[in-house]
Amino acid sequence: MLSALTPRSPSVAPTDLDEDSDCLEDVEDSAVIDILSDPETPVAKGGPRRALDAPTPPPVPARLPAPTRASLDVAPRSRQASLLLWAQAPDGTSKRPKRITPQEAVARRRERRERTADLRSGDRQLPPPVVGYDPSIERLCVKTEVEGLEVHLPVQPLDAQQLVMAAAVRAMAERRVAFVESPTGTGKTLALLSASLAYQRSCHQKWAEAGHTLPPAPASKVPPSKADPEAPLWTGNPTSMPVAEQHVPRVVWIARTHDQLQHAVAELRRLPYRPLEALRISRERFCLHPFVQSAQDKSAACEMATMTRNGSALGGGISGCEHLDNAEAIGYPTIAEHRSKFESGGKLAVYDIEDLVKDGHDTHTCPYHAALDLTAEGAGLVLATYPMLLDPCVRETSSFSTVLQDAIVVIDEAHNIPQAARDAATFRGTLSDLHFLSSKLHGLAQATAEREAVDLAERVCGAVTRLHDWLKVASDTPAKQALVRLTELPSGELRDGGGKGCLALVTQVAGLESSAEVERLVRMLRSLRRRFIEHGLEGWAVRSSAVNEMDLFLRKMALILEEGGRGGYALTVKKATTGSPSLSMVSLSGAVAFQAAAHACHSVILASGTLAPFALLERELGLQPGRGSALFARSPVTTEVGQSEGIGSRLRILALGSVDGQRLCSTRSFRAQQLDKYLDGIGTVLHALLPAVPNGKLFFFPSHEQLQDAVRHWRRRGLLDRRKGGAEFLCGIPAMVETSGLSSEASAELVVQYRMAARQPPGAALLAVMRGRCAEGADFKDEAARAVVVVGVPFPSLETEVQLKMEHERENKDAWYQAEAYRSVSQAAGRLLRHQADYGCLLLLDGRFAGESARFGASARAGAARGARSRVGPSRRCRRI
Ligand code: SF4
Repeated sequence: MLSALTPRSPSVAPTDLDEDSDCLEDVEDSAVIDILSDPETPVAKGGPRRALDAPTPPPVPARLPAPTRASLDVAPRSRQASLLLWAQAPDGTSKRPKRITPQEAVARRRERRERTADLRSGDRQLPPPVVGYDPSIERLCVKTEVEGLEVHLPVQPLDAQQLVMAAAVRAMAERRVAFVESPTGTGKTLALLSASLAYQRSCHQKWAEAGHTLPPAPASKVPPSKADPEAPLWTGNPTSMPVAEQHVPRVVWIARTHDQLQHAVAELRRLPYRPLEALRISRERFCLHPFVQSAQDKSAACEMATMTRNGSALGGGISGCEHLDNAEAIGYPTIAEHRSKFESGGKLAVYDIEDLVKDGHDTHTCPYHAALDLTAEGAGLVLATYPMLLDPCVRETSSFSTVLQDAIVVIDEAHNIPQAARDAATFRGTLSDLHFLSSKLHGLAQATAEREAVDLAERVCGAVTRLHDWLKVASDTPAKQALVRLTELPSGELRDGGGKGCLALVTQVAGLESSAEVERLVRMLRSLRRRFIEHGLEGWAVRSSAVNEMDLFLRKMALILEEGGRGGYALTVKKATTGSPSLSMVSLSGAVAFQAAAHACHSVILASGTLAPFALLERELGLQPGRGSALFARSPVTTEVGQSEGIGSRLRILALGSVDGQRLCSTRSFRAQQLDKYLDGIGTVLHALLPAVPNGKLFFFPSHEQLQDAVRHWRRRGLLDRRKGGAEFLCGIPAMVETSGLSSEASAELVVQYRMAARQPPGAALLAVMRGRCAEGADFKDEAARAVVVVGVPFPSLETEVQLKMEHERENKDAWYQAEAYRSVSQAAGRLLRHQADYGCLLLLDGRFAGESARFGASARAGAARGARSRVGPSRRCRRI
């Protein structure tokens, strides 16, 4: 169900609706406090003592089958075993925290609960950012001046880095949006981190010099940029700014994948800036619960673990989460004795995912909630993935809107943002999704046995039920749906005629008249959730997926109410040939979700190796002048770094349009007619290339479908064979194949295996897809990639949603469509040269790269060259290749 209602896009990291599962505001004081342990009591005899016993939850409603250990795919490990692990350090000493009284525990729970509730509702601002500095690292750094700002870097900055920093400082000083394009391997991350943190520090210093002990939080909940849409609050560098108008902005670093966040943390270690760090990622990587961490769906399993306090639902295997209980008992990481570890000079002043997980094991606390608590403590640097910024449900329920308030937001690999934003604002659901969405909530309400809860659920679910009834009829008899006129597309799908269908559906069919009405329903849902918790139907640490999904549905409806009437949405209905009919309210502009997220920020810096053409991106994100929001009303600073830098002799680019007279073309019609010949032609190139190029060879295909076609064909031809143990070989060389739907962990594992194989002769080949995890963000430096082969041009497939988007773009549709392909090629090509001494060759296999079409050929080659461009010098080894 969740996946059906969640944006699906290969370009976006998976959404975790439980990014912040901290809904302690809903917990009564008498709720379970499972925290006290007497160090003298033998753990094996019953575990830690409890201050208060858990209320016995009512039986799970008949409609909702009780989860089983098998359904959660949990490891058979006992609770006693986990307690023993916690109790004994390697040297045999006890690691138990000191004992606290039940009264203290309840007070801490209450304090934490109230803080979270206030942050979420907006009644409380986050504390001012905690800013630190490590002079011992400064001694190892180079000082440079950028637009009047002193910046420290571990190395002498390259010209490209100087330009990146200048653009960023200008954008921060003028509260503007900046697009920063800089080729891969030029140190963008280091430059942007140092510039933003140096700017933050300079603001902090100004306040300290003025005699303030703490910098102020932003004065108003109304973002300054909204209060005055035309003029900036102030201009110029921070040193010339009047002290009274200054505040210290938080720096928020947004990346697409965990690997990219890890890279940012690694660069942070080299800098002297030490703001309090909060790494906000999902519990997929952070959970330490002995059962939950081995479950397939950790969010659901965490919910079960925290819900089944007496172990009733899981057969006595799980009884609460001791990691979270313990963290609350010892005040981890918020009380001074623990927090100092995370401040400048502390052991975890800079930490990555593994560091926090290890610390969680050592202290027997939950890393996921530690990161949440560090945010609430006033983290100066918050690192998160795209969903936290763009997903309206994740952002609001995790209080991330408060984090973004007047913050400097740096978005890495920002060429993905338009697609990610469109997906975040799109609603997709089948008939059965809509049915389960309301029936699950109804089931929980009925289980409370409270008339009022059932009534609330009835009202909250009303819109979904009406949409469900409409879809049932509309998919069979579209002509009868007078309110929303549907026309049939060649694909057999139905769509609204004039682009106003979504708004009509939401207002007239679903009965949601205004955003205020949606807000009222969200409040009712919150009240319903409180009742579920009181009845033990929902974990006190997480929200149930039923509540989450309804919350997401309502928030997406609110976006449609705001933008649906302006042509920002299109409605499509898929008739049921097999399975259930489905409904999509497709967001056609990234501006809908992006502006909702970024309107209150201090400044936004979008960085990538491939952002151009900027005009398209500006329009897509709603940044054109006159849009109505001050942040976007000013023309952004656009800096394309290093455009004039040529491709040096460490890089060879070859574009091939045919092989042995066989034309190479990856269009659907050409492949339909000559697929075998086309793949034989590619195979001929492989035969020649693979033995000639040492170490790693990367092959990128436009889609999984085309990759699988090639794999099947080459298997038949004997080019690709599977040997003993399941290992694949391509022309006798070890080969790894990226399959669709790989998790981030599986994908990382694949890359590690490939890198190891690439180091040994005769090297290795990785067959992957453009826009996939291997093509963007992964680092294949030196031996990992001596050749990158781009097989075909990755134009988006012309499915209904792409056609609707092109229709929406009107006269810019060709430019948009081509830019999508160039950027993907550019990213794939960018895997080749990762630093100044790196070298390799880039092979573009398609007639369209070779200039078959003059109009397209030049642009396509330019896109590839932009991705591969680097400051390079001559290399004899490259000539040999
Ligand atoms: S609260 Fe417990 S179960 Fe949930 S993420 Fe943390 S360690 Fe895992």
